[in-house]
Formats: sequence, C-alpha cells, structure tokens
Amino acid sequence: MSDCLFCKIIAGEIPSKKVYEDDLCYAFYDIDPQAPTHFLVIPKAHIASVSAVTGDTAPIVGHIFEVIARLAGELGLESYRVVSNIGPQAGQSVFHLHFHVLSGRDMTWPPG
Ligand code: AMP
Ligand code: ZN
Repeated sequence: MSDCLFCKIIAGEIPSKKVYEDDLCYAFYDIDPQAPTHFLVIPKAHIASVSAVTGDTAPIVGHIFEVIARLAGELGLESYRVVSNIGPQAGQSVFHLHFHVLSGRDMTWPPG
C-alpha cells in the first residue's frame, strides 16, 4: 500500500533498525520505545489490523507468533508482553497490522 508507513519500512523507503526478516514478516525496533526492549513484528502483506485477518491470512499471524517466540528466546526475554491495538480508541496509530513486543520492566494490569 503506497501511503502506508510500515509498507514503506518493509520496502526500505524509510529506515528502521531491523531485528529479523523473512518472506512473510519483518521485525524492527520501535522508534519510541515504551520498555527497555520494544520491537514490532509486522506481516509483509498489508493487513490493516487484527480485525482484517481472514482465513487466508491467519497462517501469517501464526507464523508471526512463532517468530516472536523464537526472537524472545534469542534475545533472552524471560517475561514479555505482546500487544496489538485495534482501532483509534485502543491506541492504534499505524493501520498496518503489528504486534508490539515489550520487555525489561515491571508492567501493570489492566493496561491503561
Ligand atoms: P500503534 O500506536 O499501536 O499503532 O503502534 C505504532 C507504533 O509504531 C508506535 O509504537 C510508534 O512508536 C511506532 N512507529 C511509528 N513510526 C515508526 C518508525 N518510523 N519506526 C519505528 N517505529 C515507528
Ligand atoms: Zn502497509
């Protein structure tokens, strides 16, 4: 999608600090970290949010969770939180599906 920030990051048109990449997904550090470790994992296909996931694209989401588990292990994250905001009221600001992975500090529940 030409006017999507995260599609531009995937295409290399906007710089990012890469954590991991494969055919289906891209992981990079958040530009405004909310925890000592904070990276995002996104599908290379443009999907607007969790609410736009279909039977066809659900395997990509499954793959992303496999990647998150592997990266967390490689980075030595013992405890972490995976978050996906859906819609503006929930805090979504970029409308390309992404999973935040946050770690390295105490976290509260429920989230604000
Ligand atoms: P959300 O608010 O849940 O849609 O998350 C979007 C996230 O993208 C925020 O945590 C932003 O800090 C992050 N973000 C925005 N622009 C960039 C960028 N150029 N590089 C890395 N992260 C970004
Ligand atoms: Zn996109």
